[in-house]
Amino acid sequence: MTLLRSKIGLLLACLCGTADAKDSPVEITIDVYDYSGIKSDALLNAQGSAGEILRRAGIDAKWRTCLEPARPASCDSGVDDVTHLVVKILPEPMFRKITTSRDQLGMSVTGRPGGFALDAYVCLERVMNQATLAKTSWTPLLGATITHEVGHLLLGDNSHFANGIMRGPWGLREIKEIGVRRLDFAPQQAEKMRAEVRRRVLNRTASFLR
Ligand SMILES: [Zn+2]
Repeated sequence: MTLLRSKIGLLLACLCGTADAKDSPVEITIDVYDYSGIKSDALLNAQGSAGEILRRAGIDAKWRTCLEPARPASCDSGVDDVTHLVVKILPEPMFRKITTSRDQLGMSVTGRPGGFALDAYVCLERVMNQATLAKTSWTPLLGATITHEVGHLLLGDNSHFANGIMRGPWGLREIKEIGVRRLDFAPQQAEKMRAEVRRRVLNRTASFLR
């Protein structure tokens, strides 16, 4: 009886261990290149808002601001690591060159099937205009826009959802919810993103698959 109980205890411990590993937070790095001249405290606020949404989805984001003159040496490391994403914040004239839509706040470059999407773009003026129209602060909206594009990078094609941060396009309701930090990924999307990050960890140096 004692032996049986200890075996059951061991089995339960093993099952718990497996579940914990599967559900534990995962880590990504996001390199931010700002071509719009955002003040550093505003950029930090936006990164903070984005980081909160990602953290609630079980993803810890490590941020690096990579444009001169504040370019840390670490920006040159890990460029072949497919858990490192790059987000470029562009002014309107630059953004217009890469998208035909006038309403789009950001865009992501999807990789080939089975590959790893790494690059996303966000337009600062469009985010600010949208925030003005909704009478809300623009830094959380910038953070949410970055998060939405990171969602596309990790979830792949056709990753819009009926509600939440991956709704496309956002309505006034979503923008208001961003202002009060209430817009999140759906649980199944958060789980899918964590699984994708774990897949990327296993392929950290597989840059040839990009
Ligand atoms: Zn989208």
